Amino acid sequence: MKSLYIDGRWEECETTIAVQDPATGEVVGDVARGRAEDAVRAVEAAERARQSWRGVPADVRAVRLRRVAALVLEHQEKLARLLTREQGKPLADARGEVQSAAEQFLWYAEEGRRVQGDVLQAPAPGRRFWVWREPVGVSAVITPWNYPIQTVARKTAAALAAGCTVVAKPSSLTPLSAVELVRLIEQADVPPGVVNLVTGPADEIGGVLTSHPAVRKITFTGSTEVGKRLMAEASSTVKSLSLELGGHAPLLVFEDADLNAAVKGAVTARFRSMGQICHSANRILVHRDILPAFREAFTAAVAALKVAPGLEPGSQIGPLINEEAVLRAERHVRDAVDRGASLLTGGERGRDPNLVGGTFFLPAVLDNCGPEMLVAREETFGPVAPLIPFEDEDEAIAEANRTPYGLAAYLFTRELARAIRVAERLDAGVIGLNDARASGISTPFGGVKESGFGREGGHYGIEEFLVTKSIAVSME
Ligand code: NAP
Repeated sequence: MKSLYIDGRWEECETTIAVQDPATGEVVGDVARGRAEDAVRAVEAAERARQSWRGVPADVRAVRLRRVAALVLEHQEKLARLLTREQGKPLADARGEVQSAAEQFLWYAEEGRRVQGDVLQAPAPGRRFWVWREPVGVSAVITPWNYPIQTVARKTAAALAAGCTVVAKPSSLTPLSAVELVRLIEQADVPPGVVNLVTGPADEIGGVLTSHPAVRKITFTGSTEVGKRLMAEASSTVKSLSLELGGHAPLLVFEDADLNAAVKGAVTARFRSMGQICHSANRILVHRDILPAFREAFTAAVAALKVAPGLEPGSQIGPLINEEAVLRAERHVRDAVDRGASLLTGGERGRDPNLVGGTFFLPAVLDNCGPEMLVAREETFGPVAPLIPFEDEDEAIAEANRTPYGLAAYLFTRELARAIRVAERLDAGVIGLNDARASGISTPFGGVKESGFGREGGHYGIEEFLVTKSIAVSME
């Protein structure tokens, strides 16, 4: 397929990468295996388009972005089905993701119109001080497979609104919906060179994006391991970075919590998108007094989740992204059981006839878990929920903050003073207080510690694509 979009033209390569449906193993489509020289041409096109795009009034840029949003919504069903086929998530979630992608363009259409500078007090009558906010320049957008359209949309919309040009490199596992999104961006009359897309091997393309001097910004969502590597590589040309990396979110259930709300919240926070979300609740910490009731209700709710291909009506748990993900989930469950945990439900491959062709893993609850287990230390990135008991607030916070990550944390309590106290002490960029979704389009999303830095979403997101210029004027 022609999936390289460089300087307003679609191109193909002699070699391609096949994209598989994780529910069936069937090939859904293929994309070009772009090379380093393609990435160089894309960066050069973005650099050429940079001056003209930054000169387009924000109001006019907003018209283009609103048009992208309208086109995405017009094609919502088609995009959602493609997303489910390449990524596996239930169709209802895919529709939500596409809707969210459209909303990013609408949001940033307006946010771009509100970028403002300052006029500052000057120390003498004949002098003036101004502060201008300017686009940072060519921005490399590197995205993961778990939110293949929303992550490209959020970064690209904010970059374009700020007046930056873009070279996007989507995940090789799920590049198809990004390709379709860029086709819609083209249809919205975004000029050639403003958005470029290069599919293909990460090392080759990524190496260009991290080293080419014209790239001034790298906005990356993915694993902490790759984020560290990009950070090191980008240091040679001192690029601005925003890194949305891995997480190991704790979810704390205190003894005074609303039990139903906590159970429902924990199911959502752990099992949405099969647990393949950076802010998934990886560890469920429950106060000992409420643990028996929580365990019973939580296990029943998890066992009732419908595991089925994402396109099947009512599916709540689709396949994991690939065989490697299933092997990791199996390894984490086995390690926990070997170290003394009890498996209360799930924890094995799906064996129903409609599941055997895909990478399905039955959602698991593990009781009596501890910090030494893999499941409490590494991102499982799959539907496995370890229950860890605690006695008091200090112990819960110490366990919550134990990992090198700091993306999200959740707490369920009805006591106001405790809610504030605990939220203040949790090392996380995003907190869900009796709220399993923990974020919205207007909120800043991003981590602390090894979960990265920089914020996406709301008016905070556009800041990542702006630089501040100070102008001192003498009229003397
Ligand atoms: P990944 O392996 O780090 O890959 C992410 C992206 O980086 C992909 O496009 C990948 O391309 C590319 N990449 C890999 N090596 C590269 C290199 N050397 N240079 C340039 N690009 C390179 O992550 P993933 O497995 O796709 O996604 C899962 C991870 O993302 C989890 O750790 C999750 O927590 C994290 N995540 C974080 C957030 C957040 O907001 N904090 C959101 C979603 C996901 P290829 O696919 O071609 O290898």
